[in-house]
Amino acid sequence: MIKTIIFDLDDTLYRERDFVYGAFKKVCEYLALKFNKDYEKLYNSTIDILNIQGRGRIFNMLCDKYNINEDISNLVDIYRNAKSSLTLYGDALYFLEECSLGNIALEKNSLGNKRVEFNLGIITDGKASVQWNKIKALKLQNYIDKIIVTDDYGLDYWKPNEFAYKEMMKYFNCEAEECIYVGDNPNKDFIGARKVHMHTVRVIREIGDHMSTFLDETYEADFIIKSLYELKNIIYKCNYL
Ligand SMILES: [Mg+2]
Repeated sequence: MIKTIIFDLDDTLYRERDFVYGAFKKVCEYLALKFNKDYEKLYNSTIDILNIQGRGRIFNMLCDKYNINEDISNLVDIYRNAKSSLTLYGDALYFLEECSLGNIALEKNSLGNKRVEFNLGIITDGKASVQWNKIKALKLQNYIDKIIVTDDYGLDYWKPNEFAYKEMMKYFNCEAEECIYVGDNPNKDFIGARKVHMHTVRVIREIGDHMSTFLDETYEADFIIKSLYELKNIIYKCNYL
């Protein structure tokens, strides 16, 4: 029987671009004020650079374009410390609330139907301070029993390392076949979970960085869903089919 459900964070429980755009705004506000530049132009250019060349060196390119002489590490700090107002995906909030009400699954026992309470966990990569800021902004501690930010242990412990999955099993005192890992990124979310023999679920939303990435079987999940509204059904399948 499934006892524990563990989630990835970025693009699984909320839209990561919301954080990225919010943090860009803080950087552009700072630059506009300090160098007397037009905020809207700076912000639009930042988004253009992101869309054209992806992440990495965005602030260098922005400063070059506007002839701004600023220490890039300052901008990176502003980006990382940005307190964006983030919201969970509607289906993620629904699932977490239903879980806390015990409405996700029923178990038959001698007294009839009993509501099942699940252990809930998060395993997330990314710079630790940034991930914890996101977790606080999303108020996830209200719902989640155990959160592992792999970066707290060091770069070697990021997914797909099996460490965090094993830590979850130890913490909740349950076997791998009693756990489901839900993520969005086949490059790293499911390899470690599969190695320890957890069930795996990939959520492919309408918008997401990895929606068109399909890899070798060892990287893919057991199930693919479009939103967490389908997760209840997956738990039923793992338990009974
Ligand atoms: Mg993710």
